[in-house]
Amino acid sequence: MTSAAHRPDVHEVKAVVVRSKGAPATVETILVPDPGPGEALVDVLTCGVCHTDLHYKQGGIGEDYPYLLGHESTAVVSAVGPDVTDLKPGDRVILNWRAVCGQCRACAKGQPQYCFATHNATQKMTLADGTPLSPALGIGSFAEKTLVAAGQCTRIDEDVDPAAVGLLGCGIMAGIGAAINTGEVKRGESVAVIGCGGVGIAAIAGARLAGATTIIAVDLDPAKVELAKGLGATHGIVSRDTDPVEAIRDLTGGHGADVVIDAVGRPET
Ligand SMILES: [Zn+2]
Ligand SMILES: [Zn+2]
Repeated sequence: MTSAAHRPDVHEVKAVVVRSKGAPATVETILVPDPGPGEALVDVLTCGVCHTDLHYKQGGIGEDYPYLLGHESTAVVSAVGPDVTDLKPGDRVILNWRAVCGQCRACAKGQPQYCFATHNATQKMTLADGTPLSPALGIGSFAEKTLVAAGQCTRIDEDVDPAAVGLLGCGIMAGIGAAINTGEVKRGESVAVIGCGGVGIAAIAGARLAGATTIIAVDLDPAKVELAKGLGATHGIVSRDTDPVEAIRDLTGGHGADVVIDAVGRPET
């Protein structure tokens, strides 16, 4: 949208905000500054709805209200800070929540997923009255424009479906990372994935990429189990009908799976 008349360096846009714990998410006008050093201003094309946004709304992540929701997005760069050289207006990007520093102990040993010093925008976006917003996962992209660290923009090809590729920014990365980085799935191993939503299906894909040979999809919903079998699972268990522990033992020679990934996040699991 257009710049605020009185401050040409600030953009007035519509965004989804939650003002206090448990309050409804509301569409508000927010103010987004032009990018300073190390920052990029982007026009958001798509934004996925992720469970993490619900956790922000319910108070499960912090108390830094008001939160600007949304973090799983494809966008087009509209402006960059004066020192940003590897990104330019018009670039199509995915927004990522970990712009790694490249210099800390974790980065130095080739494990940037554990970076201690990830970057976000340093300037604050605000409500119309100047109240600073906390952007979800340092992104805040349920908005027409958002301000991020330039390193949070990962360039993508122009011709890919923005709604599909945006999922790489959270759910797919979380699931594939759980299998490959956290679970360290190796060739020939058996893997059970409990919960076959977006993250679970991505964990199944990650297990497949890592070379697991027995990949067991577990879900209460038979339709999700069928979908998982089409995306890399070698076996499916509908846990509404079958005891998953016994069924996983049966499929793994009585030993149980080498790696089990919980993509549900409930204590019962
Ligand atoms: Zn997410
Ligand atoms: Zn680092």
